Amino acid sequence: MGWEWWNGALSQRFNLAGILSSVTVVSRDSHLALPHLSVPDLRWIDWSHLYNRGFRGVVFDKDNTLTTPFSLTLSPTLATSLDRCKSTFGHTKLAVFSNSAGLYQYDPDGSKAEALENSIGIHVIRHGEKKPAGTTEDIEKYFGCETSLLVMVGDRHFTDIVYGNRNGFLTILTEPLNPAEEPFIVKQVRKLEACLVNYWYRKGLKPISHHLLPDGAEKCAEDPQLL
Ligand SMILES: [Mg+2]
Repeated sequence: MGWEWWNGALSQRFNLAGILSSVTVVSRDSHLALPHLSVPDLRWIDWSHLYNRGFRGVVFDKDNTLTTPFSLTLSPTLATSLDRCKSTFGHTKLAVFSNSAGLYQYDPDGSKAEALENSIGIHVIRHGEKKPAGTTEDIEKYFGCETSLLVMVGDRHFTDIVYGNRNGFLTILTEPLNPAEEPFIVKQVRKLEACLVNYWYRKGLKPISHHLLPDGAEKCAEDPQLL
């Protein structure tokens, strides 16, 4: 494997600049790191409830949310839930916004984005800046609506959730699909995130409120056994 692969692999898993900028942000605005809802994985999300409350699209992180890191195919356990999401919102109203596939830096010719689109049937947004940095311009252009009508689903507090909250999305945190394979340093970063977040929860910090769900997002989760 060449230098490019390693560069992509390391940066994808250990986005130091992103993490540092998020730590700076969240030490001022800690609540931005808190999701509106936390679930074990996609299967727990009640897509119809979200649609009925007025949400009009869903933006997914890729690595450890839809696929295991580096894979371009959907984790098989999530297929039913993703199909349900497509039929609820319309398949063009779902998109992937990833710090690997579709990011110009690591996917300059868009080949990963295209392969992912072909395998999971969802548009992959091409963009230039890593979450949590960057604007929502590319996302709003694709969806044709404001991000306050969109849901952001991802597995990282300091990237997906900070980006989502900062830009008005409803934010849903999933547990990582395959944390066991992560390198030591990423496990440490995850532990640091978890430590900080638990500390903020203990201090009574709450997520920012969302105008479509002013009473909280708890009802948007349902045990998949009951669905
Ligand atoms: Mg991820």
